[in-house]
Amino acid sequence: MTENMIEILGLHKSFGSTEVLKGIDLAVRSGEVLALLGPSGSGKSTLLRCINHLERIDRGVIEVDGKLIGHRLRGQGPDLQELSEGQIAKDRRSLGMVFQSFNLFNHMTAVENIVEAPVGVLKRKPKEAKARAATLLERVGLGDKGNLYPSQLSGGQKQRVAIARALAMDPKVMLFDEPTSALDPELVGDVLNVMRELAATGMTMVVVTHEIGFAREVCDTVAFMDQGQILEHGAPKDVLINPKNARTADFLSKVL
Ligand code: ADP
Ligand code: MG
Repeated sequence: MTENMIEILGLHKSFGSTEVLKGIDLAVRSGEVLALLGPSGSGKSTLLRCINHLERIDRGVIEVDGKLIGHRLRGQGPDLQELSEGQIAKDRRSLGMVFQSFNLFNHMTAVENIVEAPVGVLKRKPKEAKARAATLLERVGLGDKGNLYPSQLSGGQKQRVAIARALAMDPKVMLFDEPTSALDPELVGDVLNVMRELAATGMTMVVVTHEIGFAREVCDTVAFMDQGQILEHGAPKDVLINPKNARTADFLSKVL
C-alpha cells in the first residue's frame, strides 16, 4: 500500500488575474488520510475542486489512481484530446465529495438521495441500490431514518446521509471540505466518528478541517496551506506539535 492514490505536480489555478494555487505538489498514498489545514482563502476548497474536476486547471498534473484528471486534455503530442463532458463525469465517479453545506436534494428522502446516482449514473437496479443504501445508512448510524427528508434531519444527520451518498458510488477517494464547520458543536462528534470508522476501512481521504483533534488522532499526514502554497506537510506530531514554519505556528495558535 505504498503507491500514490493522488499525485499532484506543479498545479496552478487562477481566477481572472488572481492566482489561487501557486504550484502545488502533493502525493497521497493509497489508504492515507490527509488533513488539509490553512486559513480561510488559502485555496483549500479550490484544491479539492481541482482534484474533483470541478475546476479547470491552468497548469500542472493531477492523477488519481494512475489516471490523469483535473484538466480537460488527455494524451500527448498529436494524441492530445479535449475530454468530453461524459469522460469527465466518468472520471469523477472515483471521487466522493462531502461539502460543508451537505448539498442533499431536499425533495428526496435520505434513501432517494443515496440511490439517485447509483441508479441514474451507474445503472444499478433500483432494488439493489436501495438495499445498499440501507446498509450504508446503518453504517452511518441512521438505519431508521431512510424515509425522512433532509428538513426532518439534524445537520449532523444530513451530513452522515451525504457521506453515505458519496460512498454509494464506491469511490476510491473521499474528499471532505469542512464537513463539520456548519454543525452545532454537539453534532460534530457523530460525523467525525463516521469519518474515523471510514478511515479505519482503508479509504484514501483528504479532509479540509479545523478539527485539530481529528487531524492529530485520525490522520496519517497533515498539510498546511497558505496563500496558494503548501508550506508544510508531514506527520501530525511534527506539523501540529513542532511546526517549522512561522505561519503554521501562528495559524495553530489561533485554532487550538
Ligand atoms: P479556502 O477554501 O482555503 O477558504 P478557496 O479555495 O475557497 O479558499 O479560495 C481561495 C481564493 O480563491 C479566495 O481568494 C477566493 O476568493 C478565490 N476564489 C475561489 N473560488 C473563486 C471563483 N469561483 N471565482 C473567483 N475567485 C474565487
Ligand atoms: Mg474552503
